[in-house]
Amino acid sequence: MERSYEKYFRQNRLPHLWCPGCGNGIVMKAIVQAIEKEGLNQDNTVIVSGIGCSSRASGYMDFDTLHTAHGRAIPFATGVKLANPELNVIVITGDGDCTAIGGNHFIHGCRRNVDLTVVLFDNNIYGMTGGQASPMTPTGKKATTAPYGSVDRPFNACDLAGAAGATYVARSTAFHVKHLTDMISGGIRNKGFSFIEAVVQCPTAYGRKNKMGSPADMLAWMRDNAVMKAAWDKMPEEQKTSEKFPIGVFLDSSYEDYGNAYEGLIQRIGGKKS
Ligand code: SF4
Repeated sequence: MERSYEKYFRQNRLPHLWCPGCGNGIVMKAIVQAIEKEGLNQDNTVIVSGIGCSSRASGYMDFDTLHTAHGRAIPFATGVKLANPELNVIVITGDGDCTAIGGNHFIHGCRRNVDLTVVLFDNNIYGMTGGQASPMTPTGKKATTAPYGSVDRPFNACDLAGAAGATYVARSTAFHVKHLTDMISGGIRNKGFSFIEAVVQCPTAYGRKNKMGSPADMLAWMRDNAVMKAAWDKMPEEQKTSEKFPIGVFLDSSYEDYGNAYEGLIQRIGGKKS
């Protein structure tokens, strides 16, 4: 029996290269479910990714896709969107790709409010290159470059996106699939820079280093520690331990998107409409 989402995948590129139990496939499927839910035209939707385990998703997805350079997915996507504003542009990136190598592109994409939907697969580590600590590795957690535990404070990428100017900011996890799909749907509907952090299990690099057990144990950890935003807001501070984190929509606002602002400038100086 054909499932409705199968048409969104390049069947001849399967099987995928992700490790058994990796959560990247869950997030990839949530993206196509959100695309279907929002009724996006497959031929009018572009997927742009950077470099890393999660960024390999663009190769499996049957859209016009760009698998770009490390940290550069957002500038490539900005170019695509400005060249053809009719396209729906979705960016797939990882925590290293987006907040380290691509950190400046990320904050300036938010600042400009470019009309993109950016989904950050947050596995807390550089998986593909051997388990180095990323800017989103929690303090105290181990990585190949932090064998005694990271002393760095991690970025809260949602706070960073909101502070930098993104107009839609949300977080969910690979455990909360329906919720994750809804968060991505909200980002697709927003006209402006939408940022969705998807917490995802990496049993091979992060889980093994930090003795988090099987992929199922890592999903159970998400179930037990993610707190819906409404409950989080009422939670006593002493219960907000370092393991607990909120999920939901943190910001849903409006501001003129970059493409409109740029087109307006062209009109004001007497240029031709593109
Ligand atoms: Fe997934 Fe981690 Fe394996 Fe990469 S290293 S494919 S993120 S489990």
